[in-house]
Amino acid sequence: MKRFIEGEDRKQVTLLPECLDDFVAEDNPVRIIEAFVEELDFASLGFDGAMPSTSGRPSYHPGVLLKIYIYGYLNRVQSSRRLERECQRNVELMWLTGRWTPDFKTIADFRRDNGTGIRNVCRRFVMLFRDLKLFSQALVAIDGSKFKAVNTRDRNFTEGKVDKRQKQIEESIQRYLNALETADRTQPADLEAKTTRLKDKIERLREQTRDDEYQCPAGERAIYTSEEHGLQLHRYRSSACSQCAMKPKCTPSNQRRISRWEHEPVLEAVQRRLDKTPDAMTARRRTVEHVFGTFRHWMGYTHFLMRRLPNVGTEMSLNVLAYNLARVLRILGFKKTMEAMRQVGV
Ligand code: SF4
Repeated sequence: MKRFIEGEDRKQVTLLPECLDDFVAEDNPVRIIEAFVEELDFASLGFDGAMPSTSGRPSYHPGVLLKIYIYGYLNRVQSSRRLERECQRNVELMWLTGRWTPDFKTIADFRRDNGTGIRNVCRRFVMLFRDLKLFSQALVAIDGSKFKAVNTRDRNFTEGKVDKRQKQIEESIQRYLNALETADRTQPADLEAKTTRLKDKIERLREQTRDDEYQCPAGERAIYTSEEHGLQLHRYRSSACSQCAMKPKCTPSNQRRISRWEHEPVLEAVQRRLDKTPDAMTARRRTVEHVFGTFRHWMGYTHFLMRRLPNVGTEMSLNVLAYNLARVLRILGFKKTMEAMRQVGV
């Protein structure tokens, strides 16, 4: 194989062994992870095991496991089993951990048991760069997205399962009502007290619905009439329509009926703001939408690995932390990011 670049002979003995640090470039992002994590106060951030116990087998410092996770999420390796393998063969991780090779159970348990600490680290990172005035208050963009999750088969509901469960609930309610009826017959005094309380409650609710009215274009009071559908639509009508001069312009019916969703004022306020800044939607799209695209890409367009909502929150915090780190590195570059961390002190 002439005229190709040749690798080193595997059996070549090196008299002066290379230092592990030589394998990691001066501007490698793992150095930023190291600088960031080394300065964290793990006890105040709420990590388990921040203070070593006086007896038993020594444990891994939470900082080492946090470094593994930040590195993993930054490099799209989120699974604890894959991280275990990477710790054994990946030179960057060897450098980061000091050649520790925790098993997958230790790695997984750390993520499961330190949700609060991980979320606090994510917050701390944002605060650090807020202190450095990297955020302006000129624009705040909000977006949301749906991510797949996993749960146990018992908690996984199909349409048929929901119907069956609903039937069970209805039967339970009927049983409960029957039991109540029996109790009412045997305890008439209690029944009277309950009925009085219920009547008071109904009257109070009726009074509340009377504070609810709408002013129509002619300035007439349109009185609340009913509330419908799951969207809580409020319906109004005015008794002054038949004599109103504006009626031909207002409604072809005998009486104008007005429907408003309970949160309609919020939508109107948003619309007013949008009318003042017509390019706001474009700015929102280019500011925040690609972030969720990146998360999905990093997650391999699949589901979260952990079950239960708090654990999913922890996973998302790790994604956010890794994303923020990558973003800051891209904006500031390695040198300035490192300087910034040293200057402020995490
Ligand atoms: S027609 Fe009825 S709802 Fe319309 S402006 Fe006149 S009073 Fe108001």
